Amino acid sequence: MKLPICDITSFTLQDFPNHTACILWFGGCNMRCSYCHNPELVLGKKKLLPWQDIQQFLKERQKLLDGVVFSGGECTLSPELPELIKYVRELGYKVKLDTNGLRPEILDLLLTDQQLDYVALDYKAPRDKFKEITGKSQFDMFRKSLEMLCTNDVPFEVRTTVHTGLMDEKDIKVIMADLEHLGFNGNYYLQNFQPAPSTLRPLPEQLRKLDIHALPSSKAFTVHTRNF
Ligand code: SF4
Repeated sequence: MKLPICDITSFTLQDFPNHTACILWFGGCNMRCSYCHNPELVLGKKKLLPWQDIQQFLKERQKLLDGVVFSGGECTLSPELPELIKYVRELGYKVKLDTNGLRPEILDLLLTDQQLDYVALDYKAPRDKFKEITGKSQFDMFRKSLEMLCTNDVPFEVRTTVHTGLMDEKDIKVIMADLEHLGFNGNYYLQNFQPAPSTLRPLPEQLRKLDIHALPSSKAFTVHTRNF
């Protein structure tokens, strides 16, 4: 199999709720978020791992880890993803998918085939700021993925990275209202942008953190904050 996997995190307790897991990092992405911490990964400048090495790693950890996180970059861009997920499940792992939601057709395929145990979906920005934040204008594709997950039984979380030079409490209120409207009842993570050695595009200065107390509380879902 030829896969755009550039790196493996061999163990994590934080990325797949209630599971021990490893992370497969896919190179390439269909967004260009200015605050992205992984420019080399996104722009496909990293060396790919040979399939034999990935296979050997997965076989060696088979009985030691509960799950595999498919992350990136954007892993749904890889045509081999469904086949790899099947392979990983046959080894006995549970599967978590990290996605920006721009490929609802792949998400649909994986959900229909019952190949996913957990999904983390990025809600990058409300419609009117989506292009500015992500460099892409396909908000409707993302929204389709969100709707699909809201009507499916697979547990999922939603997360938004917030750089207050780009988005503020008003924008988060719009996102929260949309999540309420769709009946989302899981965990919503607000991730404070942390300065990084390199980002994908130049950023304005961030002078403050998001004021979480200025946000409404939700009866439907739980809001958490964490650093990105
Ligand atoms: S932060 Fe944006 S550009 Fe970077 S990997 Fe995630 S979706 Fe892609």
